[in-house]
Amino acid sequence: MLAGRIDERAQIADLAATIDEPTLAIDLADVTYINSLGVRDWVTFLRTLARQDVALTLERCAEVMVLQMNMIVDARGSAKIASFYAPFACDACGWEGAALVRTEDVQPLVPLGRAPVTTCPDCQQEARFADFVDRYFLFLAA
Ligand SMILES: [Zn+2]
Repeated sequence: MLAGRIDERAQIADLAATIDEPTLAIDLADVTYINSLGVRDWVTFLRTLARQDVALTLERCAEVMVLQMNMIVDARGSAKIASFYAPFACDACGWEGAALVRTEDVQPLVPLGRAPVTTCPDCQQEARFADFVDRYFLFLAA
């Protein structure tokens, strides 16, 4: 699990060399911030794992990581994304927030231009996706 800020002090690039498992799952739910140096290290980390033939699965990717993967193809690399957070809004009560969605549920909707829905945690009504489908889910097309 990676949590908090990913920047030049996180030293994740060195982490890859210590991994000798054939598969690895990383939970990215608690990543709050990533800067350009952090992205560079993250890309190095992914490439090193790929060279070591480690099958990487990313779970519960925070929105900041999704935004990076949408801007920089290499920020996803060959990793499998199992689930990620997406922004939702509830018209009934005004709730806005991130909800976890599973890639296998969202992936079929994207080519149709459709967005997933979630249940509002406050009023239990249906909350709608609060970004652009062709932008926020761009990384799924890679
Ligand atoms: Zn609501």
